[in-house]
Amino acid sequence: MIQGKTLDAWYKSHPVIRELISLKEVTWFNPTIAPASEALVDVGLSQDDVKDASERLRRFAPYIAKVFPETAEAGGIIESGIQPLKDFQQRLLRESGVLGVGTLWLKKDSDLPISGSIKARGGIHEVLKHAEDLALQAGLIKLNDNYEVLASDTALEFFSRYKIAVGSTGNLGLSIGIMSAKLGFQATVHMSSDARQWKKDKLRASGVTVVEYESDYSVAVENGRLQAENDPACYFIDDENSPHLFLGYAVAAERLARQFGLSGVRVDTDHPLFVYLPCGVGGGPGGVAFGLKLVFGDAVHCIFAEPTHSPCMLLGVYTGLHDKVSVQEFGIDNITAADGLAVGRPSGFVGKAMQRLIDGYYTVTDEELYRLMFLAHELENVKLEPSALAGAPGIVRVLNDEQYLRRIGVSSTQLVNSTHLIWGTGGSMVPTEEFASYLDKGRALQKSS
Ligand SMILES: *Cc1c(COP(=O)(O)O)cnc(C)c1O
Repeated sequence: MIQGKTLDAWYKSHPVIRELISLKEVTWFNPTIAPASEALVDVGLSQDDVKDASERLRRFAPYIAKVFPETAEAGGIIESGIQPLKDFQQRLLRESGVLGVGTLWLKKDSDLPISGSIKARGGIHEVLKHAEDLALQAGLIKLNDNYEVLASDTALEFFSRYKIAVGSTGNLGLSIGIMSAKLGFQATVHMSSDARQWKKDKLRASGVTVVEYESDYSVAVENGRLQAENDPACYFIDDENSPHLFLGYAVAAERLARQFGLSGVRVDTDHPLFVYLPCGVGGGPGGVAFGLKLVFGDAVHCIFAEPTHSPCMLLGVYTGLHDKVSVQEFGIDNITAADGLAVGRPSGFVGKAMQRLIDGYYTVTDEELYRLMFLAHELENVKLEPSALAGAPGIVRVLNDEQYLRRIGVSSTQLVNSTHLIWGTGGSMVPTEEFASYLDKGRALQKSS
């Protein structure tokens, strides 16, 4: 029995589960999505909350520029570029025999400064929010001060009395650990067994305490939570439920709109935008999608991508069980090479709050992630980690599903004018040798395909 039903009963009521268990690549478009004007209220957060996060990031910009010189040119604003993927798009569409329509772009969160992944948005925002709360309360700063003063010895000494803890598969730990340690906090990152050695090394070199576990992400998070519960000076960053992480991610949308404007990319009813977001626990893609829906409304279609071995969000939304169900209960092992996506149980907040706003979900095999990583590097010279390629097959999944396109009312003319954006969630900081070994793997898979 699984969740009170036999497996056969599950297969009857939810046929996609059979394919999920067989680890086949699947695509599921949610038939019960709703217009943004109706469904945005489900989230319980507003445009004002995103604006608040955006303004906080601006207040901290002078400080960030000072302590992370690599951000000085951008004025201390942590942001990534966009890049068209003409050759890669041609290749993807030719392989799948899909008619070549629309334009494919990459959002290069792989190149975000400080931690080289999408976690430099949410993770860093939450650390800054906590630091700001403490500093305001103590009278160390006022809202309209120049926050550069937070780089002073007085501020470092002040923050060193406080602790920050987080559980992570790697990238969130990097963002939160590096940012916390820079401010002076005592930071502890509880790392799951799948976390890469170089990430642990980098954190320790930044003065962060790394606690390692022989088990997966959920156990690491639980231990972080316990540490914080027993210590009033310790603040736990809750990847599974945090609105501050979520809002940090959401700020990406207004910035993307500006970048599209500068590049002459139109997004409106006649020029729909499809965005493909790699999904782990859901906070990153959920937050970005929330921001996108606020900015572009029904002109944007957000689709989440997961590894075949970790389809937790698909399973949670599809069954309606959300965080009450894990992939392991259905015998799916949650073992994947896709860093950040090895999550067996989805966020308790994102899946429920966003279910009427996310058009669909699909899965990709690890082998395909490596192969696509190799191709993207070969054809477009981009450095992405395997998980960041989860968004790459999205354009083919969408263009292949006439029923879905009809249901959302996108005509063939609109498809010709459509923009497709792969959210490239990480990769620039993967050490050269490790990246070369990923490429070797991808090259071999490409040859044998
Ligand atoms: C964390 C992460 C994601 C997904 O974010 P979630 O908030 O866990 O859903 C995607 N890609 C990479 C590289 C990540 O590190």
